[in-house]
Amino acid sequence: MSTQSARISDQDLLHLRAAVALAREAYEAGDGPFGTVLVDPEGTVLWSGRNHDGGGDETQHPELAVAQWSVTLSPEVRAASTVYTSGEHCPMCSAAHGWMGLGRIVYAVSSAQLLRWREEWGAPLPPVAALPIQHVVPSLIADGPSPELEEELRALHHAAYERAAHG
Ligand code: ZN
Repeated sequence: MSTQSARISDQDLLHLRAAVALAREAYEAGDGPFGTVLVDPEGTVLWSGRNHDGGGDETQHPELAVAQWSVTLSPEVRAASTVYTSGEHCPMCSAAHGWMGLGRIVYAVSSAQLLRWREEWGAPLPPVAALPIQHVVPSLIADGPSPELEEELRALHHAAYERAAHG
């Protein structure tokens, strides 16, 4: 029996893996390891991007960038599209997503998992509360985490923490 959440399909996993690849690209560029992909109802990738916080602007999250970009879409397409992301939205990005009326979110690791890992490593905790997406946008469908991707992301986040701590 698969450990995959029943709510995350094989097609979802494909898009999640693309988001994780973007997270790795961000890490390799010196930014936080987070990546995001926006997919329309036909399965077409409309937008993909990654974190850009390495320059000091801590709000450069791909989940915020995609919500802002989505103004170019009709409200109907926004509502019917899915945002795949390597890490669950933070409250800032959840709020932007909710305000723009975007559709379902699928995340590979939850904010609670990330927080637990940071606690284990003795890493500084983020200044913003790790609220679940649905505490910010109650009506939204949000599916995750994806156990298949947990180990890979744990290693990636650990490497990012070690780099931040020790250079
Ligand atoms: Zn965010």
